[in-house]
Amino acid sequence: MTRRVPLPVLNNPMARAHAGGVNHETYEKKEKCGVFGVWGGKTNAYTTYTGLFAQQHRGQEAAGIAVSNGVHLDAYADMGLVADVFKQPTLDRLEPLATRGAIGHTRYSTAGGSIKCNAQPLLERYSGGQVAIAHNGNLVNADALKARFEAAGSLFHTTSDTEVVIHLLASPQQQSTPDPLASALRHLQGAFSLVLLFPDRIEAARDPWGWRPLVLGELAGGGLVVASETVALDVISARFIREVEPGEIVTLSARGIESRRFSPPSARLARCVFEHVYFANPASVVFGDNVQLARERMGERLAAEAPVQADYIMPMPDSGRSAAIGYARASCIHYREGIVPNRYVGRTFIKPTQDQRVSSVRLKLNVVRELVEGKRLVIVDDSIVRGTTTKLKVLQLREAGAKEIHLRISCPPIMHPCFFGVDFAKRSELVAASRTVEEIRKLLEVDSLAYLSLEGLLSCVRHDPKDYCTACYTGDYRIDVDHPVTDEAVGPQLRIFG
Ligand code: SF4
Repeated sequence: MTRRVPLPVLNNPMARAHAGGVNHETYEKKEKCGVFGVWGGKTNAYTTYTGLFAQQHRGQEAAGIAVSNGVHLDAYADMGLVADVFKQPTLDRLEPLATRGAIGHTRYSTAGGSIKCNAQPLLERYSGGQVAIAHNGNLVNADALKARFEAAGSLFHTTSDTEVVIHLLASPQQQSTPDPLASALRHLQGAFSLVLLFPDRIEAARDPWGWRPLVLGELAGGGLVVASETVALDVISARFIREVEPGEIVTLSARGIESRRFSPPSARLARCVFEHVYFANPASVVFGDNVQLARERMGERLAAEAPVQADYIMPMPDSGRSAAIGYARASCIHYREGIVPNRYVGRTFIKPTQDQRVSSVRLKLNVVRELVEGKRLVIVDDSIVRGTTTKLKVLQLREAGAKEIHLRISCPPIMHPCFFGVDFAKRSELVAASRTVEEIRKLLEVDSLAYLSLEGLLSCVRHDPKDYCTACYTGDYRIDVDHPVTDEAVGPQLRIFG
């Protein structure tokens, strides 16, 4: 494989297998990330860096950029935040190699997947040429596909589900079809918003259910952009064009934007409603709704469903802030910020291990005693997953002298794991999976606890309720996650060329 940038070991596929500690027992089904791509811009590597920076909230464990000069691809990726991975000298080396285009990725994973070899974009050479791939989502049939490939003699260099896409694309069955990428994507089940870089183009694709967002934009000075969230377009002054449609492949190249379908959209779409509740940047427009305004509506609706007398409405920073504004507005109770975040500690929810989560909470929040002492507080948060973080926050408020604590949550109880890209890990870890609301209230030691109803949540977003995924609340997974379908997608002669 041609390499023009001094690369860390993870971009050497053979070295990855050793340094990354490939362990199939750690092959987890949970990750969620941010993707970005630009074709035809003037400074594609720097633009990608900026686009990734704007999407840092979607993944804080690893970051990477792959670039094209029209003939060759190169890539650089490593563990860490975007600003840690990409220093000026690295970007200076990448930029001359990015004369045609670039794609990038911010990664988030569970503990099993939080290893260097999984940092994306994955860059591979196969019989059809070079390809780099960045993936947001989770493929529920990746294990089954991978087993078939391995039985046929293929070697995998990562523990990421994303690598099966490259193996599929490279397989003789797909390469013998008129449209290998479209053919490969038809074998995938689950959530995928994919951005693939080839020497002469970018291909962006979204699964037929539309689980994860993916948007197109245009740079003012020329250049086409694809990103997970519109906030990435805003920071580079790109004009939003439209979403990539479920089941669509969009090509960005010298010919502009071209569209084709690899599948009709699902009869019932599955837009992840949790993007609105927690994950997306409040400034983004996701699935047609501004996230900040949707969260404020959730708070208003929560106030109507679960009113309570109090002195102040307070958000759990930062995740509960938007809903708390809505709750305060609807209840006509003063909004005050009595829990102050340390802005230099990362979002606790996306740290990969329990120990890291707990220590981060203590570091992250300080309570303003003067606002809390002797007061009846409504604390608004976006969700409760394991409950550990919430319990510690409540303890801090009690220590500061809060008289009453009424906890209001702007989504229903999370009772089921997510198989489509969010780390709700195991059902046994979910505090609501085996407890009533009253039992959770007692566990958290709050005076009252109420969740937004599912009907209330879905009334705050614009599309037909049937077209949102709500599986973590309802268990309605849309596809059989226990018995994912695989077919004869694997050829006996498949080889990926390192
Ligand atoms: S299960 Fe929940 S978090 Fe996962 S895709 Fe569905 S709504 Fe989103």
